[in-house]
Amino acid sequence: MKHNPKTLPLSNSFSELSKDFYAEVKPSPTLNAAELIHFNPAAAELLELAPDCHQTAEFNAIFSGNQAIDNAAHIAMRYAGHQFGHLVPSLGDGRAIMLGETTNSHGQRWEIQLKGSGMTPFSRMGDGRAVLRSTIREYLCSEAMFGLGIPTTRALCITGCDDKVYREQVETSAILTRLAPSHVRFGSLEYFYYRDKHEPLRQLTDYVISHHYPELIVSDTPYLALLQEVISRTAKLIAQWQSVGFCHGVMNTDNMSILGLTLDYGPFGFLDGYNPRHICNHSDHSGRYAYDQQPEIGLWNLACLAQTLTPFISEDDARQALSQYSQIFQQEYQQLMSNKLGFENYNDDVEQLTKTLLLQMQQSQTDFTSLFRQLCSVERDSEQTDQILRNMFVEPEAFDQWLNDYRLALRKHAPPDKQRQSNMKLANPKYVLRNHMAQLAIEKAEQEKDYSEIDRLIKLLHNPFDEHADMAHYASPPAESVEQVAVSCSS
Ligand code: AMP
Ligand code: MG
Repeated sequence: MKHNPKTLPLSNSFSELSKDFYAEVKPSPTLNAAELIHFNPAAAELLELAPDCHQTAEFNAIFSGNQAIDNAAHIAMRYAGHQFGHLVPSLGDGRAIMLGETTNSHGQRWEIQLKGSGMTPFSRMGDGRAVLRSTIREYLCSEAMFGLGIPTTRALCITGCDDKVYREQVETSAILTRLAPSHVRFGSLEYFYYRDKHEPLRQLTDYVISHHYPELIVSDTPYLALLQEVISRTAKLIAQWQSVGFCHGVMNTDNMSILGLTLDYGPFGFLDGYNPRHICNHSDHSGRYAYDQQPEIGLWNLACLAQTLTPFISEDDARQALSQYSQIFQQEYQQLMSNKLGFENYNDDVEQLTKTLLLQMQQSQTDFTSLFRQLCSVERDSEQTDQILRNMFVEPEAFDQWLNDYRLALRKHAPPDKQRQSNMKLANPKYVLRNHMAQLAIEKAEQEKDYSEIDRLIKLLHNPFDEHADMAHYASPPAESVEQVAVSCSS
């Protein structure tokens, strides 16, 4: 059965917990009428909404916070977090309000959040609003990550109106409807740990286990098992980020999902030219969250999570669990890199090839996505496409040597060309959401209320491994004339 948004069946298990965990707060109505900026049918399917549900005024009213879903709970979640290494004991959803949770016929639970729907008790100095620009970025990137097969929150729609928001300049306001099985963050547990409130801490942890890790209930040590599972998911998530050149930008513990999802898209970016020290967040002066720091920061954040569980597990057990992180990360990363190069398994040859290639790419600032995609066309016995690759390096002769070694390894370890090439095309996306692509969609939306570019990009990025011959220009790195877009945290 397909639902209308107004009568979407909600279960609201989170708001049935005690009020320690959230504040009840309704979305603030918009001053001007809200319009639908973009609707994502793929996400609507997750909620089992009728495919044409977005064609009504009611849809706009609900997903702009002007009208309520029947039985909506309306809560802002409480959390703390380590921001740039420092504990901030009280944060919380300052501009996101959960409308409730719905469970679809496959038993999947989805929390529905409006991001940018007005002030909450956790807004601190903020206005509770989001700007169109940052909303489009989160919308596009969460769906792009989904297309890449990387765990992420999802996005149902963007609504907007002519209400003004004040940042460095006056901007247009918009609201993103975000979906996730749970928005609980490492910081959600930290909030209670740092107040010595062990009872609510236990309740929240039990909630996470029973609703999101039910297979752990039967464990003799469920809290330790939870930690181990989050460590494993986070390590694998970050390995996936590294393998596509994704930089999150603000890996504070309040942006780390207890489910191992990519959460809270702010100043994120995908690498263009390969620079492992790339910092995508212009407020990150020390490079704490640089691309090559992400694996290490993942472990640092998990250590914060482990600390919050020490009332229930021993420090030795916590340490032991954390000690597994590097190995899980390495194994996943090595497997992903092997697949990117066309090998089924990692071995010494693949290790050497990966290292040398990345060094040469760094020296030449070779475009990360294009290079790996172009490698798919290498053939064992023909040098026909070599020149395209050689042109991507400042020292083509050194790269020739690499190609030579690569061909030797292909003969030794890889399946035949046709098979390998089609495998590689599933491991190396042709398209990622480069900043300049998002920027074009933003400019069209801001200047002309033209949302067609959002639509084009969503369709493209839902299938980033396909060729899309008519959209091939989106695979190109930014022209050198394109100014780097500076992106910062909260907007
Ligand atoms: P973020 O950088 O988006 O992860 O946000 C960090 C914290 O600031 C969270 O508690 C957010 O809810 C809060 N926040 C960010 N922007 C706003 C805003 N415009 N109004 C209120 N709170 C905000
Ligand atoms: Mg956040």
